[in-house]
Amino acid sequence: MSRPVIVVHGGAGDIPDEQAEGHRLGVQRASQVGWEVLTAGGSAEDAVEAAIRVMEDDEVFDAGRGSFLDLDGALSMDAAFMEGANLNAGAVAALSQMRNPISLARLLVSAPHVLLVGEGAHRWGEQHGLHRCSPDDLIVARERERVLAHQGLNDTVGAVAMDLSGHLAAGVSTGGSPLKVPGRVGDVPCIGAGIYADDQVGGVSCTGVGEQITRIVMAKRCTDRLAKGDVTAQQAAEEAIAYLARRVHGEGGLIVLSHDGEIGCAMNTQRMSRAWITPDASYVGLEPTD
Ligand code: ASP
Repeated sequence: MSRPVIVVHGGAGDIPDEQAEGHRLGVQRASQVGWEVLTAGGSAEDAVEAAIRVMEDDEVFDAGRGSFLDLDGALSMDAAFMEGANLNAGAVAALSQMRNPISLARLLVSAPHVLLVGEGAHRWGEQHGLHRCSPDDLIVARERERVLAHQGLNDTVGAVAMDLSGHLAAGVSTGGSPLKVPGRVGDVPCIGAGIYADDQVGGVSCTGVGEQITRIVMAKRCTDRLAKGDVTAQQAAEEAIAYLARRVHGEGGLIVLSHDGEIGCAMNTQRMSRAWITPDASYVGLEPTD
């Protein structure tokens, strides 16, 4: 039997002081929910979905309810899900009427499609048992004010878990970058950029400026580095962020869980909320030095 592990993040960026406590509590709660799934014998997929749903429902994060709006004041959410056992993946983009985009991304894992967008994605979700909501159920006053004030920060959410059978899954969900150009899609639904999971190597979930993360295909790059077998998960995470900064002047963060249960996390942003739980320890962090 493997040792279960859940690692979550609540986004990298300029998290303001007044949201610091909300971030810490939010990632802690999400990791706890994922952990309970794993210790009850649930799969890594169940744990990742459950943890991300907690953060999508928590309006402090830029995912699900509370997502950033685009320049038109409209909602456009992206999410992706990947199973490490068979490399099956599902992703959605440009959603405005799904309370939990991660659940739709997960449903797609067993469909013949990898990526569905916009109205087609909503319709497919409904046909497969999910309910549409109104965008107004997901848009919060803080984000309407941000459109008016033109401010920005990043709070995408993600999770990687290993279950008792040693299987890995990874997920990521976002409202995208603040005040984005309508139609813009970042790294999140691009498998290999925003997430990757392979039972033989490890799982990764990224956050940060999506255009830069996509250009270096950061999650797959980190997994490939880990596959060489001569670095720890922490070193692989740090190398990915160093490359992001060096090669494309990028800003972001990532969480890594290796197939043997090692955890890594690195960022070059002011803050990044993250939490993890293993059989021996639990951790919550916000500052790079936590
Ligand atoms: N990576 C996300 C995007 O560019 C944003 C974030 O992580 O905060 O859509």
